[in-house]
Parts: sequence; C-alpha cells; structure tokens
Amino acid sequence: MKRLAVLGATGSIGTQTLQVVDAFPGWFEVTILAGHSNWQLLLQQAEKYQPKCVVITEPSAYEKFKQENRNTNMTVLCGMPGVLQALEQFPTDMMVGAMSGAAGIEPTLKALELGIDLALANKETLVSGGSLVRKAQQKTGVNIISVDSEHSAIYQCIEDGTKCLNKILLTASGGPFRTWNKEDLYKVTKAQALKHPNWSMGQKITIDSATLMNKGLEVIEANWLFNVDYDDIQVLVHPQSVVHSMVEYGDGSVLAHLGKADMRIPIQYALTWPERQGNPFPKLDFTQIAGLEFYAPDFEKFPALKLAYEVGRVGKSAPAVLNGANEIAVAAFLKDQIGFMDIPALVQWVVEQHNPVEIESFSHLLEIDQWARSQAQVFVQNRKA
Ligand code: NDP
Ligand code: MG
Repeated sequence: MKRLAVLGATGSIGTQTLQVVDAFPGWFEVTILAGHSNWQLLLQQAEKYQPKCVVITEPSAYEKFKQENRNTNMTVLCGMPGVLQALEQFPTDMMVGAMSGAAGIEPTLKALELGIDLALANKETLVSGGSLVRKAQQKTGVNIISVDSEHSAIYQCIEDGTKCLNKILLTASGGPFRTWNKEDLYKVTKAQALKHPNWSMGQKITIDSATLMNKGLEVIEANWLFNVDYDDIQVLVHPQSVVHSMVEYGDGSVLAHLGKADMRIPIQYALTWPERQGNPFPKLDFTQIAGLEFYAPDFEKFPALKLAYEVGRVGKSAPAVLNGANEIAVAAFLKDQIGFMDIPALVQWVVEQHNPVEIESFSHLLEIDQWARSQAQVFVQNRKA
C-alpha cells in the first residue's frame, strides 16, 4: 500500500484526491491529513481514513479540532511546524501538495529533503521556489508528478521522451471573460469572476483563471517541470477544455491528451504513476462534442499572461515577487478592496519595483515573498484611500 500525506485535504484537489483513494480500495493508506481552517471536514475525513496524524495549520481551528476529536490513537499537530514534524515522524511514500498558495513551498522542500515523491497541485511552489525545488530534487532524485491537468497531459504526451521536442502547446479555457470587451473587464464583479465555465476549483485559482494569471503561472511551472524555453511554450485558448495540452515534435507530429474536465484523472495519474489504471469516472463521448476550437490568447485584454511570460524570462526572484503580489491582489479583490483589472496592475507595479536576485535559500525566498506582499498591500491601501 502506498502511504499518502494529503496536504490541503479539505480543498477542491484534496477532497478529489480522497475520492481517488476511495476508487482504489487496498491501494493507498492515508497516513497524514492536513487542512487549514475547515476543522469540521478534517474531523470527518479523519474518522473515515484513520490517519496516523492530522495537522491543522490555523490555530483556532486546531483548538476546535482538539476539543471535538475522540480518537486518542491519532497525533494532532498545529501550524506549519506541525506539517514538517508530521512528514518527518510518519513514514510516507507520496505527498499530495494541494495547499493553496505559497504555503505549499516549505512542505514541498521538506518532502524533497526526506525523499518523499510528490503529486504536486500547488503550482505556486514551482513559480516561487522553482530553483530551490530543482536543487533539492537533484540531490534526492525524488519524482515530481504535477497534478495540474495541463502538465499531467504533457507528461503523458512525452512518456516516450523529449528527443526532438519542438514545443509545448499549453491549452487554456480562456475563463469566463474570454469574449468580453476590455472596457467591460473593469466592471467585473466577484460573483462573475468566481463562475468558471468548465472547472470547479478553489477561489484563488478560479480568480487566477479569470485573469489568465493561472495560465501565466502554468507557463512558469512548465518551464521548471520540463526544462523547455519560454519561446517554446505556446498558450492556446481552447474553450471546450477537452484537449488538456499538446506537444509538437520536430517532424511536425503533434501528440495531444484529451479527456473529461475532471481533476480526478490527473490526480489518479500521479497517485498510481508509473502505472495506468482503469477507473469508474465518466469518460469522454466524442459524439457529444460539437467542435474543438483553438485561438491565440489576447495579451492586451489579459495583461497578467503577458507579464508572467516577461517575469518568467527574467527569472531569479522575479516570479516569486509576481506570485506573492498576485496572492495579495486576489485576496483584496475577493474582499472587494480592488477591482478586477487592478489585479494585473498591482502585480505589474510590484514587479517593476523589484530588482531580481538569485534565491539562495528558503529564508531568502520568504524575505522576498514578504517584501512583495507588503508592497502589494501599499497598492491596496492606496486604492482604498
Ligand atoms: P482550495 O482553496 O479548494 O483548497 C486549498 C487547501 O489549502 C484547503 O485544504 C485549505 O484549508 C488549505 N489552505 C489554505 N490556506 C492555507 C495556509 N495558509 N496554510 C496551509 N493550508 C492552507 O484550493 P484548490 O484545491 O483549488 O487548489 C489547491 C492547489 O492546487 C492550488 O495551488 C491550485 O493552484 C492547485 N490546482 C488546483 C486545481 C483545481 O482544479 N482545484 C487544478 C490545478 C491546480 P481549509 O479549506 O481547511 O482552510
Ligand atoms: Mg491547470
């Protein structure tokens, strides 16, 4: 049985990971469950999966969990130190990194240090700490299988190798505002931005998908995962979300991965990798697909994507700054403190003030991330004033 640590267990990817576990009785043992604030759901999950350890990163939720928990055989820990302790203390074969945002970086680095394979949904880790992740991975040879649907698709297309690979064709649904005029994007409300046409996901990634920052983060993620130049990563808007990405080889052959817009498929691929297994989830019915469309993205309407390419090319600490500023911008938009088009404007403003440097360590990365967040807050305060 593969021993799993599911971090971000209470979120969209975390709960779908547990559905995959349910679909494969006898395959997985859930050893560690970690969540942030939703202690009630964690309690239900702990009763069902009987992990050796539960970690709650939000202190008041930890207190509530401790009050209600009746299972004395289970270790209950608090905060990020608790997550790191759990990984050290309870042997684990694979960590599912499904926390949202930069909170995923430290446990990912810990898993790499401990030689634990990674099913990585948390793309912010690679965007922000890609160089640290690569260094740590080179030391221990840990496998990192991305759970992001596009990157999972690319893995599957290059299973036979990357020899003669020309480029990656990274598909994007285009989000809810694909057909809107740029002027109307200034009036976008929170409710409109939270309605993704094809995928049901956590709030932060749903807003990122609406600004196309998500695709920008994925371009940087693809650069780290597949070691492909930015010039050779092409974003294609594909509103149907049937083709999850493609790769083009030098002879003109294009390999594509097609499937339902169901995150359980890439999650399962990572969990059962290197094997491919059948599952009971719904399958594609080609007779129900009216057509597949592909367009170039509109970089003027969605400046976040353009900015992410630029920042990715600059490299060093610039992507960490982009990521930290974007997290603050999205949170401020969700609190109605800034407008939709303020998100890319804020991120650009913070990035422009930064002088990129090589990231030397995790604590150095943390400093840069904190600087980006405090600058982003200055922008938010100015908007509020
Ligand atoms: P959700 O918001 O649904 O879930 C986030 C999870 O992280 C929850 O378990 C939450 O706990 C926990 N969490 C939130 N803040 C913190 C924190 N400060 N410290 C520790 N844990 C925290 O997000 P998603 O599941 O949608 O996304 C998770 C990651 O996966 C993101 O990085 C996203 O980009 C990536 N991803 C998601 C996809 C999707 O389809 N959803 C697709 C591809 C990638 P709690 O709820 O208990 O507060
Ligand atoms: Mg994706």
